[in-house]
Amino acid sequence: MTRPLIAANWKMNGDLALAEAVIAGLAEGGGGGVDVLLCPPFVYLREVARMVRQAKVTGLAVGAQNLDYHAHGAFTGEVSAAMIADAGCEYVIVGHSERRALFGESDDDVARKAQAARGAGLAAVVCVGETFAEREAGRTEAVVESQLAPLAGFFADSDGGDFAAAYEPVWAIGSGQSATPGDARAVHEFIRRRIADHNPAAASRARVIYGGSVKPGNAAGLFAEPGIDGALVGGASLAARDFLSIIRSGYAD
Ligand code: PEP
Repeated sequence: MTRPLIAANWKMNGDLALAEAVIAGLAEGGGGGVDVLLCPPFVYLREVARMVRQAKVTGLAVGAQNLDYHAHGAFTGEVSAAMIADAGCEYVIVGHSERRALFGESDDDVARKAQAARGAGLAAVVCVGETFAEREAGRTEAVVESQLAPLAGFFADSDGGDFAAAYEPVWAIGSGQSATPGDARAVHEFIRRRIADHNPAAASRARVIYGGSVKPGNAAGLFAEPGIDGALVGGASLAARDFLSIIRSGYAD
């Protein structure tokens, strides 16, 4: 595994003051050994990227929360991968469960987005995860497998450094109820095996991160599990103190 990745998904929240507080906290030290990713709303990307460059904090990067897989055209309100890269981003989240549930993104759309990200030199943070009903029905692996299936070609061509997989059980997102470290680890192992079906070298190098109610109080337990290579953090990333505390929760320098 390369360095762990701890990513902040602000969703439609946050402002430049939040970015400033997080960046200042990291510049003071204590995040060493971990890659940190800030994913603010589109309108803040260029300025946050500028702040990050200026801060010169090792491993700190900026990403978008979504992209359109078309290169350009009459797609009102959409933003392409090249535009995101031009704004100074290195990453983009694709397939977040809110995009799937609220905006009708399909597994095929997610694969197209991951390919578009790669085409623009962006690393994709590819989100997968089951709903509560699917989990109760014992379908977690089947659901994750079907979400990963259209990404076969994307994984096959990967060097393992151009994406991270994010296991985000839908029932854990914003609910305050995280997966247990053991349950998360089992799904992470499953995800890594499915990636290895297409590309064993990429599977061993790629980061598989966990998302779903990660907080200062439960982060260390999750990060202690082999195969949990970081976190995608929503709610707790909106308070600089909590996010910095998560970053400092594990993964020795
Ligand atoms: C998310 O939206 O990706 C997420 C993990 O949210 P939260 O941390 O609030 O559960």
